[in-house]
Amino acid sequence: MIIYLNGEFVPEEEAKVSVFDHGLLYGDGVFEGIRAYDGRVFRLDEHIDRLYDSAKTIDLEVPITREEFKEALLETLRRNNLKDAYIRPIVTRGKGDLGLDPRKCATPTVIIIATGWGAMYGDLYEKGLTAITVSVRRNAADALPPNVKSLNYLNNILAKIEANYKGGDEAIFLDTHGNITEGSGDNLFLVKNGVLITPHTLNNLRGVTRHVVLEAAASLGLTVMERDVGYFDLYTADEVFVTGTAAELGPIVTIDGRTIGTGTPGPVTKQLMAGFSAITRNEGTPIY
Ligand code: PMP
Repeated sequence: MIIYLNGEFVPEEEAKVSVFDHGLLYGDGVFEGIRAYDGRVFRLDEHIDRLYDSAKTIDLEVPITREEFKEALLETLRRNNLKDAYIRPIVTRGKGDLGLDPRKCATPTVIIIATGWGAMYGDLYEKGLTAITVSVRRNAADALPPNVKSLNYLNNILAKIEANYKGGDEAIFLDTHGNITEGSGDNLFLVKNGVLITPHTLNNLRGVTRHVVLEAAASLGLTVMERDVGYFDLYTADEVFVTGTAAELGPIVTIDGRTIGTGTPGPVTKQLMAGFSAITRNEGTPIY
């Protein structure tokens, strides 16, 4: 595997980062998760814009331009002969001392990893996923805004651990006010009486897949509402599904032991899954 590291393309074994890198010491950095389908990178600009916006929010200056970043990403895919891929760009604060002060970190570290990775949930796209609402709350937007896709994913990992212990495939977060926010690595949608409902994006990541699903819903003529969602809405929904670059669209059929709708992926979810699949295969930035 060839990795992009600070302007160079190096074999994985040579892709080394200092133990004083603040990405490692403090989770001080930002990242993205991007997919390529059939030789084209899906929504590359949206992901790169989010990466730079995440970086700006934590006052981290990405040392290359957006155009240079995109070209480096495409070249990483070419050097690994990938057409279908999961791509992980990372920008850390760089090497500093053992103190927190980011001013001690002279140069950010830029990494791009690209691997082949198929469907994340295997046969669960047909069977449906089991979800657990977890006791750990989503990071408050006035503490570490979930819209920053930072390297500090401990909040998400704690949610995943709890869901794992409780037998769930995915965790569902509430915020400190009792609003449902998102999954540990994906956004959340419900369908109730034919209306597509999703939480606002203050206390969750403004997902690219979420955006694509909203576009697909509009072209299917579905009514969409972005509003507060609580336990009640979740348990009484006709359909629930999560969206994310890695997960794509994942139907949820059980939440905290309650069967959602008929207990199988619902018709609106299936329609949107098909719509999403068509969109991902019909657009994107060519790699070759
Ligand atoms: N929320 C969280 C916490 C995530 O990690 C992700 C994955 N990036 C998402 C939502 C979905 O975002 P996207 O559709 O842009 O991948």
